[in-house]
Amino acid sequence: MLTRILVLFLFAMQGGFAQTPKESLDRLVEGNKRYAKDRLLHPNHSTDRREEVKEKQNPFAVILGCSDSRVSPEILFDQGIGDLFVVRDAGNVAGPIELDSIEYSVKYLGSSLILVLGHQSCGAVTAVLDGKTSDIEAVANLIEPAIKGAKTVEEAIKANVRSVVAQLQKAPLIKKLISEKKLACIGAYYHLGSGKVELLTP
Ligand SMILES: [Zn+2]
Repeated sequence: MLTRILVLFLFAMQGGFAQTPKESLDRLVEGNKRYAKDRLLHPNHSTDRREEVKEKQNPFAVILGCSDSRVSPEILFDQGIGDLFVVRDAGNVAGPIELDSIEYSVKYLGSSLILVLGHQSCGAVTAVLDGKTSDIEAVANLIEPAIKGAKTVEEAIKANVRSVVAQLQKAPLIKKLISEKKLACIGAYYHLGSGKVELLTP
């Protein structure tokens, strides 16, 4: 009996059970605290974990983040193989391809959280703010309307994140899952220096 409870506990710890949006968010928040304090646990990096997820994955969260080399979700949330479904592009924008990818994970893989992750000193948002958009036209077209009126780079980056969150929340499948409380979609801002992820209010 005790062994059975232990096995079930370990299974749950590794994301074997569907998690609530809050549980998924807590897991990210705790992982980021460990990262910011240099207390990484490196969970789910083992041969056993590879075996466990080789036939089936159940990432508890989707991260839509920027491609920036300093903002790697598995590292800054201290997660491992099979934990996060990660979609990245310059400026963490959501065009049709990103939306399809995100919807795949929430529909078929059971992810209960979508986190849109912007970050300090984002080059893509800064370029749009400075009007230097010729090299990143497709990305700039998505960022431009979101950051109108923003006075600082940080304000613009956060406005862009909030706009992407609002956009995703309106997508029919995501909207339905949110209304059933099976999914949450929130925004966050990563501080490059401290390593801390700040959750953004809508
Ligand atoms: Zn960026």
